Amino acid sequence: MTTKERHLKWRNKNREKLRELSAQEYYSSRGQAATRRYRLKTKAAALAAYGTFCQASGCGESRSEALCLDHIANDGAAQRRAGCGVGASFYVWLKKHNYPPGLQVLCHQHNFEKQSLGGSLPDIRTKVAGIPLTGGY
Ligand SMILES: [Zn+2]
Repeated sequence: MTTKERHLKWRNKNREKLRELSAQEYYSSRGQAATRRYRLKTKAAALAAYGTFCQASGCGESRSEALCLDHIANDGAAQRRAGCGVGASFYVWLKKHNYPPGLQVLCHQHNFEKQSLGGSLPDIRTKVAGIPLTGGY
């Protein structure tokens, strides 16, 4: 089956869906979905490198949508000025630089709390590269 035949088959199968969406909306939604998949994939790779749950003491949040990367030394602004990017491009930058040390996984709540407390979080357990965390999470 050629590519054109596959497209025709898909179009016939999804005729109703195509009627509902204008061409612009359809292609726009495809682009957004692809962007979302890419962003989630790069974030998942970064979380796999830095940890898959919040490293604040006693938290244990592990839903990826609730997690973010935190600059342990609070030097994120300087790093962004140096060109590491934000969002998905930051995750790509991290991969390109072989996931450098200096970052940890926090949930958004604890990241905000750390920021509110002037850059430190009491009882935070930081991951040391190559040494797995121990504890009752
Ligand atoms: Zn947390």
